[in-house]
Amino acid sequence: MAIPSVHPAVSGGHVDWARIRADFPLLQREVHGKPLVYLDSANTGQKPAAVIDAVDDFYRHHNANVSRAVHALGSEATEAYEASRRKLAKFLNVRPDELVLCSGTTFAINLVAYSWALPRLKAGDAIVVSRMEHHANIVPWQLVAQRTGATIKVAEIHDNGELDLDALYAQLTPEVKLLAVTHVSNVLGTVNPVREICCEARKRGITTVVDGSQAAPHRPLDVASIGCDFYALTGHKMAGPTGTGALWARKETLDAMPPFIGGGEMIKEVRFDGTVFNDAPHKFEAGTPNIAGFIGLGAAVDYLSSIGMANIEAREQTLLAHATEELSKIDGLRIFGSAREKAAVISFQIAGAHSHDLATLLDLEGVAVRSGQHCAHPLLQFFGVAATCRASFAFYNTHQEVDALVAAIHKSRRLLG
Ligand code: PMP
Repeated sequence: MAIPSVHPAVSGGHVDWARIRADFPLLQREVHGKPLVYLDSANTGQKPAAVIDAVDDFYRHHNANVSRAVHALGSEATEAYEASRRKLAKFLNVRPDELVLCSGTTFAINLVAYSWALPRLKAGDAIVVSRMEHHANIVPWQLVAQRTGATIKVAEIHDNGELDLDALYAQLTPEVKLLAVTHVSNVLGTVNPVREICCEARKRGITTVVDGSQAAPHRPLDVASIGCDFYALTGHKMAGPTGTGALWARKETLDAMPPFIGGGEMIKEVRFDGTVFNDAPHKFEAGTPNIAGFIGLGAAVDYLSSIGMANIEAREQTLLAHATEELSKIDGLRIFGSAREKAAVISFQIAGAHSHDLATLLDLEGVAVRSGQHCAHPLLQFFGVAATCRASFAFYNTHQEVDALVAAIHKSRRLLG
């Protein structure tokens, strides 16, 4: 069951992408009698057999709770769970004891909001949030602002979907205590220069939270070198199971934060006259975690590493270039976001066609795209649109699938009149 360190489809500088694609059982199915063209990986990624097998193997052969039992299964489960933490830490180039395992980015950011921000912020403080954030990196800050009296300031974007960096840096005035910014936009694909942004924030003593949900699955990451204070990610977009994710922060930052959720696993000793909490990261991991999910995430990290994140990024850039070129040829099609550094996500609209209607017709052709507001209402408000369609690509997609999307758009358009 061990995943090889180099995938057999990778040799020298060459990757046999057709062979990689064959690792994903679901991609072989049909939808409405047509081959599935799955272009919704920004929403959730498909899983390779190695991940599905790892989860299956855990339940068949090792299932037990972690950190509690001394019996063989208990230690196997604990070892496998902690091995996943180490794998993910290596993948991100951080220390395992600085990685809090949690259900995903939403939980990770709420942990920062409730455990770091809530006890520290007060009336007169400000939180800067970028216009292109997912709701998971907006709403927790609004909740903190409501309870502390802090205010929210919005870091605006240019029409091409890049952050207005000059305006952002000008906004980083002394009352700003926290800056929340995404590494990669889930709607526009914009890759933000998070290292530079965090450096500017740090100079001013501002704590930074980076949402890495759309970065971790698609590019080599060196979280330690970004210079942020918190980095959040979600496992289900990076070939892992749903309900897995992580929050990275320096050990001293985690040590200085109170627990967020109380219960078992997060304590050293419980007495009615006072409880001694476990050390970080465990003090943030109350209750039974998604053990099988994290074992799957460990396998996902091994799997992605066996292909190589640089290969994955390069592959997805060729798909993005091809899709951008072909979609741009379609009359009346508008693409939202043309950042100079962009991940393989294309949000678009067709003049006269409602995005949900278009997505429904594309689905009948087997093409799965997301339509709607992509959990980013303020961003769509900036562009003055109610919804877009979004095609998001992963390394397992093919150039033929890009062509299938284009053909399906032409056909749907005829039907929409
Ligand atoms: N941030 C971004 C940029 C995302 O794309 C998503 C998932 N759509 C999230 C946060 C939330 O992730 P999760 O629901 O897995 O917590």
